[in-house]
Amino acid sequence: MIKRITGLINSSSETLPRRMFLLSCIVGSIAMFAVFMVSLLSGQGIVISAGLAVGLIILIIVTIFALKTDKLTLAGSIMVLISCCVVCPVGYILGGGAYSGAPVWFILGFMFVFILFKGALFWIYLVLTIAAFAAATWVGARYPDLVVPLPTDYGIYLDTFIATTVVGMVAGILIKFQNIVLEREIDRVEAQRDEIEKLNESQSNFFSSMSHEIRTPINTIIGLNEMTLREKKLPEEVAENTVNIQNASRLLLSLINDLLDMSKIQSGNMEITPGEYDTSDMLSEITNLHWNKAMEKGLHFDIQVGENIPPMLYGDETRIKQVIINLLTNAIKYTEEGYVTLRIGGETSGPDTFMLSVEVEDSGMGIKKENMDSLFDAFRRVEGEESKNIEGTGLGLSITKQLVELMNGTINVNSIYTKGSTFRVEIPQGIAKEGNISFAERGIKRAVIEDYHQSFEAPEAKVLIVDDNDLNRMVCQKLLRSTRVQADTAESGKDCLEMTKEKHYDAILMDHEMPQMDGIETLRKLRRQSDGLCKDTPVIALTANAGSDREAFYIDQGFSAYLAKPIQSRQLENILLASLPKDLIERDYTDRGEEIFHTYEAVHKIPFMITTDSICDLPEDMLRENEIRIMPYYIVTKYGRFRDLDEIDADNLQQLISKGEQEIHSDPAPIAEYEEFFGDALSEARMVLHLSSCKKVSSAYDRALSASRSFGNVYVMDSGQMSTGMGMMAVKAAELFRSGMRVEEVINELEGYSKRIKLNFLVPYLLKSGTKYNMPLLPRLLMNVFNMEPVFSTKNSGLVIRRFMLGYIRNTQDQFVRYCLAHKNNINTKRVYVTFSCCTPEQRQHILDEIQKLVDFEEIVVHKASAATYSNCGSNSVGIIYETEEEF
Ligand code: ADP
Repeated sequence: MIKRITGLINSSSETLPRRMFLLSCIVGSIAMFAVFMVSLLSGQGIVISAGLAVGLIILIIVTIFALKTDKLTLAGSIMVLISCCVVCPVGYILGGGAYSGAPVWFILGFMFVFILFKGALFWIYLVLTIAAFAAATWVGARYPDLVVPLPTDYGIYLDTFIATTVVGMVAGILIKFQNIVLEREIDRVEAQRDEIEKLNESQSNFFSSMSHEIRTPINTIIGLNEMTLREKKLPEEVAENTVNIQNASRLLLSLINDLLDMSKIQSGNMEITPGEYDTSDMLSEITNLHWNKAMEKGLHFDIQVGENIPPMLYGDETRIKQVIINLLTNAIKYTEEGYVTLRIGGETSGPDTFMLSVEVEDSGMGIKKENMDSLFDAFRRVEGEESKNIEGTGLGLSITKQLVELMNGTINVNSIYTKGSTFRVEIPQGIAKEGNISFAERGIKRAVIEDYHQSFEAPEAKVLIVDDNDLNRMVCQKLLRSTRVQADTAESGKDCLEMTKEKHYDAILMDHEMPQMDGIETLRKLRRQSDGLCKDTPVIALTANAGSDREAFYIDQGFSAYLAKPIQSRQLENILLASLPKDLIERDYTDRGEEIFHTYEAVHKIPFMITTDSICDLPEDMLRENEIRIMPYYIVTKYGRFRDLDEIDADNLQQLISKGEQEIHSDPAPIAEYEEFFGDALSEARMVLHLSSCKKVSSAYDRALSASRSFGNVYVMDSGQMSTGMGMMAVKAAELFRSGMRVEEVINELEGYSKRIKLNFLVPYLLKSGTKYNMPLLPRLLMNVFNMEPVFSTKNSGLVIRRFMLGYIRNTQDQFVRYCLAHKNNINTKRVYVTFSCCTPEQRQHILDEIQKLVDFEEIVVHKASAATYSNCGSNSVGIIYETEEEF
């Protein structure tokens, strides 16, 4: 039994609560046995000893019950109830009360409660134990006669000694045990982590070797298939099959590439290898790839290149290409009609840094808001009817995002479902050569890929292909046939070194992974070959050991260029053309093609734009100065729905009301219009911060927030303010952005600022719509009967009535001004905003004079309320808004 119990306590396959319970029971039993012995030795009487013996037996039965039935909570409850509510209090009264070791035993009870329970039960038993201890103490203090004292002083000392030692030991054992378990857990987690790391490594190795193995046969399939495709007079069915084979093998290849990259990223082995690169070359390569795909689908493919891009940049060209290619591939894949636009630009962002920006815009199916959050998750494809039949793994965007982040860049997406998407990437690059690229001079052309046509012919050129795989050698040789170069083959590094002693080659294509002597070793020996004829011949690495970071590796090893398998004939020819001596090139066909780039005046987007709703009540010049864009509300009347600012103003509205129209209310624009509004703002700014009025008062916040989900860089904030209070927030936001703060910092700062804005509105004639501010019936009645004019203020993102003004308008307005400016010391006197809603010129002047009499503001900004504000406040309303020094 003991063996079994210790086995269970130590067993890591048992749950920790079960093990702790068992241990607590064992330790508890020992403790109780100890008390039992003490009671016998100190002669505390038969009642106590018998009681303890019964308690001990119950404890043992409970332990066995718990072990057998696994009902730990029930068993624990019985144990705690017996020990804390019966054994300890009874022992306390019968065993000497406060003048004994009895109080110490309660500590044991507390420990069991803490160890065994959680949630509600924990609190119940904790309170119960405290109550039991309190009750025992109270009885001892109130009725000392009931307490059976220990017979001698010696007995008291002994009892306290034993109780403290036993409880101390029990506590120590439990803590020690927990520590041991914890240490073992830490060791286990560490061992697991090592194992996972090893697993990751072997997974990564597996992927790269699998990728190598799969590439070799794909190379043969694609290569030989290409030879068939080059045939001019193929029967229709054969031609169709060949094209299908080509498409399928390309898809397979991109899948392998994605898996390989993903495994590298996940195992932390993905490296960014920067180098200098020619921007125009990079762009032509990318666009050539996609031009034809877009044409095939009947899409308008527009490429706009900023004039200010430096001709040479410093960065990881391969990765940047990969990012752009992924975005373009998706844009073309998910667009059935319309256009795909690639916009490349950027701006100098430091002494030697250029912030390269790439925008891929399409008029395709767009992305639903609910899918935006998981867009960049690996293996997550967006479910939907439209994309059901489109091939993909769901890896592209995840890889793209991680690559961009590895290069310290950012990626975001704006998309409106059914209308299209815009992916925008910004990556900092070094400037390797100052100046601007000029495509016209460099003659960048779109390669016209109609039927296959060789890029060049060089019958005198001698090329050596070194590869241990027969099929690969054959494919490469066949792919070069139409260039008429003289291609020899060698099946090992050793053969290559033999042949290069005999014959001079103008270029060598060298496989990397070969048995005995690999490509790198062969290259080293070739360079040092004393009697070799090819010591200076350009050697091109030819390898299935792909992965987009390999190029830098091979260049480092001394190769002059790198070609990944499966070999693409166009690339093979281009690299050979660049490597062979010019005088051997008999015909060069590469200059065929047409210009496809439009250089464009770099559209310098402003870094941020503040937008808000028309009820912000700010003067025109302040909006302009701070580049604040306004989204109009609608004013709904029985004559129709009018857009604030464009179609109606407060004066028009007043005329309507004077005609008896009372059913007027304002309504924020629908979500679709907010989407359009944000889309327009983003064509001018990189990021938008939209401020909405109090969310408890208007649905504008919810609508704007919902629209913002279509974009990655539109932030919507509840300003917690109305009217010019919200306008002040917008002005402050612009100020903060200008000081160089990031959007999170600005929002944070604005939250504090909102609490320092004091906004009061005197509303003498609350229109019917005003009732929506939840004004209770009684004040509303009183207001009407006694002509009381409420003063509204903002609080916790809602509106509250601060007080009522009584009397005639002139009088109430005076009272109002005095009320607003009562706490002079807390007012920031830099500026006060006064917003009038259809007041007479005399009223206005009077109010302004009163303000000036009370506080010496440096500036008073006077503004006429918008129709939206008017529709809520009615005529003769005045708002006084200013910043306070401290939160109020
Ligand atoms: P894949 O295209 O292989 O499914 P990605 O990671 O590239 O995987 O994209 C993930 C999902 O994002 C796609 O399934 C698609 O629904 C959506 N998506 C990506 N780009 C676009 C786009 N330009 N237009 C619409 N949806 C897109």
